[in-house]
Amino acid sequence: MALDDYVRTAGIATELVNTTAEVWHGVDHLPDLDALVAFAEPHGLAELAGRARATDLRAVHRLRATVRELIDHPDRERLIAGASALTTTVGQVTLDARTRWAVSLRPRATLSDALSLICGVGVLGVVQTLGEDRFRACSAPTCSGAFIDTTRPGRRRYCMPGLCGNRVNVANHRARQARE
Ligand SMILES: [Zn+2]
Repeated sequence: MALDDYVRTAGIATELVNTTAEVWHGVDHLPDLDALVAFAEPHGLAELAGRARATDLRAVHRLRATVRELIDHPDRERLIAGASALTTTVGQVTLDARTRWAVSLRPRATLSDALSLICGVGVLGVVQTLGEDRFRACSAPTCSGAFIDTTRPGRRRYCMPGLCGNRVNVANHRARQARE
């Protein structure tokens, strides 16, 4: 993966932390291996997903908690130390075909190793390029999600804009109607 592609990698990290039962009112969206495979496949991880085991699921659940902890306490040094610790699965640093810095996984890496590396470089890329104020909690009053804002203006407010943003719009609309 390209080291400067933090929009993609931090986006996957955001998606991962928002699969928890805490965010979905008691229903874990990564409850089993099938759900993990379905999560990983669209992110170019189909091959590793095909070899995933129960140990991967447990490791990804731990990773999810670790990344959430980082987003919830966005101190610069802490983010750098925590995210760096997730990159121990790096096998090689090279220049890719477009001569961008890229990292590849160590040999025999697992799906959880890949997701760990993705989250690590995503967090580090955002800290370096955009700053630590891009790690935030969702603004929707009924949502306990969190996200990494990689938008250019940096004014993202919701963990899942299509869902939490819409809920807030609907609630505001109803409140307006009730007042009128
Ligand atoms: Zn939300």
